[in-house]
Amino acid sequence: MKQLIFITFILAFPSLLSAQSSEEYRLLMEQRRRAELMRTLDSAVALMEDGKHEAAEARMLYVLNNIRSVPSDLTFYFGKNSFYLKKYKQSVDWLSKYLQLKGTSGQFYSEALDLLRKAENEVRNEQKKEVEKAKQILSTSYEIDCGPSGKVMCPICKGTTVLVKRGSFGNHYSTCPYCDKHGFLTCDEYNKLIRGELNPREQ
Ligand SMILES: [Zn+2]
Repeated sequence: MKQLIFITFILAFPSLLSAQSSEEYRLLMEQRRRAELMRTLDSAVALMEDGKHEAAEARMLYVLNNIRSVPSDLTFYFGKNSFYLKKYKQSVDWLSKYLQLKGTSGQFYSEALDLLRKAENEVRNEQKKEVEKAKQILSTSYEIDCGPSGKVMCPICKGTTVLVKRGSFGNHYSTCPYCDKHGFLTCDEYNKLIRGELNPREQ
């Protein structure tokens, strides 16, 4: 009986040993791989801070696609980088994820919140633009004839030359930055305006 136990032990031990070491080896390799991915992430963040957002995104995607569990910081960095790439929906998605993950205690809480609000605004603007684009297809495809006067009443201030912003502490009035002092645009300015190419005057 003793002998049998001994033989069983001898037979089992090497495989036990190798099973254990292969598990250790696997863990070690995984740690190395994660460390390598974290270095890639660091380099991606450096690229982002350098304004190289496309390259940063490629590296962040590589990390996202290869790491077992996504570190919460990466959700922030990816959301932030997406914002600078003008991928606003993507940005909202990842920044929200970061805020959900870390709450108010996150290292990047205020920056994430600030960027999220901006990205949400941009998403809303994009939605508005989609509507305007659909409406503008006809007007933007043609040079609009403004008639013999060559002038058009400013559609921004409706010819009043004054813009009114309603606020909770009363209205704020400012001079319309698009038209002349009589509330008119030249035909050229008007055509630029409907194409979204007329820049407001600096005030
Ligand atoms: Zn005006």
